[in-house]
Amino acid sequence: MTNTQHPARVAIIGGGPAGLMAAETVRAAGHTVDLYEAKGSPGRKFLIAGKGGLNLTHSDPPALFVSRYRERAEQVGAWLADFDAEALRAWALGFGVETYVGSSGRVFPVDRKAAPLLRGWVRRLKDQGVRFHVQHRWTGWTADGALRLQTPDGEVSVQADAVVLAMGGGSWPELGSDGAWVAPLQAHGVDIAPLKSANCGFDIDWTDYFRERQAGAPLKPVVAHWTALDGTPQTLQGECVITAHGIEGSLIYALAADLRDTLARDGQVQLHLDLLPGQTEAQLLDKLRKPRQGRSFGEHLRRHLGLGGVKSALLFEVLGKEAGQLPAEHVAAALKRLPLSLLRPRPMDEVISTAGGVRLEALDDALMLRALPGTFCAGEMLDWEAPTGGYLLTACYASGLRAGRGVVAYLDP
Ligand SMILES: Cc1cc2nc3c(=O)[nH]c(=O)nc-3n(C[C@H](O)[C@H](O)[C@H](O)COP(=O)(O)OP(=O)(O)OC[C@H]3O[C@@H](n4cnc5c(N)ncnc54)[C@H](O)[C@@H]3O)c2cc1C
Repeated sequence: MTNTQHPARVAIIGGGPAGLMAAETVRAAGHTVDLYEAKGSPGRKFLIAGKGGLNLTHSDPPALFVSRYRERAEQVGAWLADFDAEALRAWALGFGVETYVGSSGRVFPVDRKAAPLLRGWVRRLKDQGVRFHVQHRWTGWTADGALRLQTPDGEVSVQADAVVLAMGGGSWPELGSDGAWVAPLQAHGVDIAPLKSANCGFDIDWTDYFRERQAGAPLKPVVAHWTALDGTPQTLQGECVITAHGIEGSLIYALAADLRDTLARDGQVQLHLDLLPGQTEAQLLDKLRKPRQGRSFGEHLRRHLGLGGVKSALLFEVLGKEAGQLPAEHVAAALKRLPLSLLRPRPMDEVISTAGGVRLEALDDALMLRALPGTFCAGEMLDWEAPTGGYLLTACYASGLRAGRGVVAYLDP
């Protein structure tokens, strides 16, 4: 609580969706809002998300939607109670951007573009009086508590009555969110879970032969079998891609948190793939036992089981060149549960999002840092994670709104 003069000066650090949402909320309450963005323009990661069609949110029923936030479902669910998928779609419509539900349940703008939405948003914020300061990189605080900002003209310091930090996670640093905020916050006693790759691919030790021929090949459809951290067996059908390093794609991203954390805990993890989900093991066994009539094993698999291309190559990669000499039971079992040993998650720089960040326990319900009254946090820099599907952006918007409202309540108790 504070006895600030009105209008108060509020600084927002970071021009991604969380920061913009906080700016909008605080400005609507009549306060002076200055938004500081490290890059030459705001929302660069949001624009890149537009390359994939801008999956804004998801049409999951509310309870399922909230469960996507795993260990943080309860806390994120509280933010979503104020701003959920429907609210986000209505917000987009406010810019004339209609959305639709795709076949997977994901929600996209009809034109599948981020630029019109971002342009309209920034224009509206400027019209409302939010002052944008690009090429202003926050680096911490001065001894008297002012914000330190690096600019092309040198360092400046800025006093604010309240601050929202919304500097994103640690992936794709070239777009601005580089996780450099971790050290200054830690130095002020803020508890931060280490940033780690989320929605990521994994490295696999492919042979050169396989890598050279199959990198880039899509594997679809396949069913993944894996074990959740609590030991429960899990199954999910989807699509993935063989890469030069290993494997990635939407199916793998959906399992990535379990696989990553199991690897960290046990030092190893296996993913099993069902390469032929439409056929039972018994059916495959029958077909494998048919006489080969002089044909190669690969040709037999193609003719009788419908297994070719990358799926066939993957079977040989795992079973070895002599796969055709193995007992039919062994091959049938491998086709239904092909074991892949994952070595490590892909590095943070290249992944879609990061887990870890400011622990929610370091914040009150309004997302104000307990260690730094008047300083709020929002977006991907908080310690929650979710799979792809629009859940990331939705929680960034919702937390931006929550932090913005928190600022307003703090300034005007
Ligand atoms: C390729 C790709 C595709 C994606 N597609 C989707 C999708 O379709 N759907 C979805 O839900 N999510 C998607 N995401 C994730 C989503 O874009 C992010 O989760 C979201 O943008 C995070 O919002 P944010 O506001 O927290 O941070 P960001 O969008 O990262 O914004 C943070 C801002 O803060 C600025 N900043 C950082 N440090 C400083 C500093 N020290 N001083 C000043 N400014 C600073 C950055 O330059 C940046 O502009 C995608 C991500 C990637 C990489």
